[in-house]
Amino acid sequence: MNVYDSLRILDLMKAFGYEETMDLADADLMVLNTCHIREKATDKVYSELGRFREAKEKRWANERKQTRIAVTGCVVQAMGEGMLQKLSFVDVVLGPQRYHLLPQLLAEREKGSRPKMEADFSADEKFDALAPVQAHGARSFLAVQEGCDKFCSYCVVPYTRGCEYSRPVKDIIEEAKLLLQSGAKDITLLGQNVNAFHGEDENGKERDLGYLIRKLAELDGLKRMSYVTSYPSQMTDDLIVAHKEVPQLMPYLHLPIQSGSDKILKAMNRRYTTRLYEEVVDKLRAARPDIALSSDFIVGFPGETDEDFEQTMRLVERIGYASAFSFKYSRRPGTPASVMKEQVPEKIKSERLIRLQELILSLQKKANEAMVGKTTEILLTERGKKKGQLSGYSPYMQNVHINAPEELLGSFICVKIKQATATSLTGERTDSALSSSDDKKKG
Ligand code: SAH
Ligand code: SF4
Repeated sequence: MNVYDSLRILDLMKAFGYEETMDLADADLMVLNTCHIREKATDKVYSELGRFREAKEKRWANERKQTRIAVTGCVVQAMGEGMLQKLSFVDVVLGPQRYHLLPQLLAEREKGSRPKMEADFSADEKFDALAPVQAHGARSFLAVQEGCDKFCSYCVVPYTRGCEYSRPVKDIIEEAKLLLQSGAKDITLLGQNVNAFHGEDENGKERDLGYLIRKLAELDGLKRMSYVTSYPSQMTDDLIVAHKEVPQLMPYLHLPIQSGSDKILKAMNRRYTTRLYEEVVDKLRAARPDIALSSDFIVGFPGETDEDFEQTMRLVERIGYASAFSFKYSRRPGTPASVMKEQVPEKIKSERLIRLQELILSLQKKANEAMVGKTTEILLTERGKKKGQLSGYSPYMQNVHINAPEELLGSFICVKIKQATATSLTGERTDSALSSSDDKKKG
């Protein structure tokens, strides 16, 4: 979601004549889009801002050029007005639902007004006020839902992003069309609880994610689709069946369970049991037998015993994830779990994380090795690290590197997989771009 927001900020400022630069010394405006989800992410904000400040002061000293600094994102929401007082060199501070105000606040600042902060919550106003989107590559993100009402006991999202909101179906279709016209071929639908989507159609009727996916699948040029992040108990049968019926829907699903212990899930205020989760997985596999599953895990949640953790390890093996993210529990101010007794010592959290990550890596390696010798369709999305190399994604969201000419960037090609590691695949091209119509649309 933060990548999506950052790109929208970029689109917005381009509409006001700005160009993108990665060189701080060259920037008239520096934007730091922040994340508050774990302590580590928040800590990074201050070191990054230190770099920004230094670059701003140097530019003024050397060239007498003014540099504006804007801070956006969830840390703003969490810190409130204190942020401006603490950071005198910052010009504009905007919460995650207010970044569309950036040009206006910068203009006011140029006229001599004081640094300002805006942190209200109305997401609908933001989407209406933003500049028209454009694809930033063949794989594009599209936010369909924002915010969260679940209040998991460890999580800051409901406090920083606000309550759940779904965009109207019409707006989403229009945005998807713009993305496809400007080069997108693969669209990832985004939402903190994307499968809680309940946007209105043109007749004011509430529609769910399964409906939206089927509508988007009718659009010309949309070759692949996925959605993230889903809440396990909101995987409806209709959505599950979409994985069988909608050919563009990738055989991949990120479905975070967080823990394999029902006791811990309850303490986390996750509203499902491991049994329900496994039933959903069975249904998904019945609908799409080759589906690759992924998850998030938190280790060392308050009260997590060795046995609770072992239950997580056993669940990971039972499900056989193709990939997964795992984190040490991070105490977030203002959340119920942060004041729970029985906080788990850091050392134990670290030991558990290492064991879980080793297990996940071994499963990832297995899933990747199963691809060796197979021919699969890859969307080439970026230049590789090595010269002459391009990287892209398999239908199962695996990272694939191949040697291919630069002009194939943005195309689908068939690749025979030769080698696999836990994190990526390498292969060789087996034919030219998959379909000629694909090539023509590349532009
Ligand atoms: N809405 C999604 C998750 C969004 S946050 C869901 O419910 O699955 C992304 C991930 O960050 C979460 O899945 C969780 O694993 C992790 N996370 C959130 N808060 C955390 C915390 N306080 N400590 C450690 N990990 C956390
Ligand atoms: Fe946070 Fe996800 Fe829980 Fe919402 S559902 S509170 S975003 S972890």
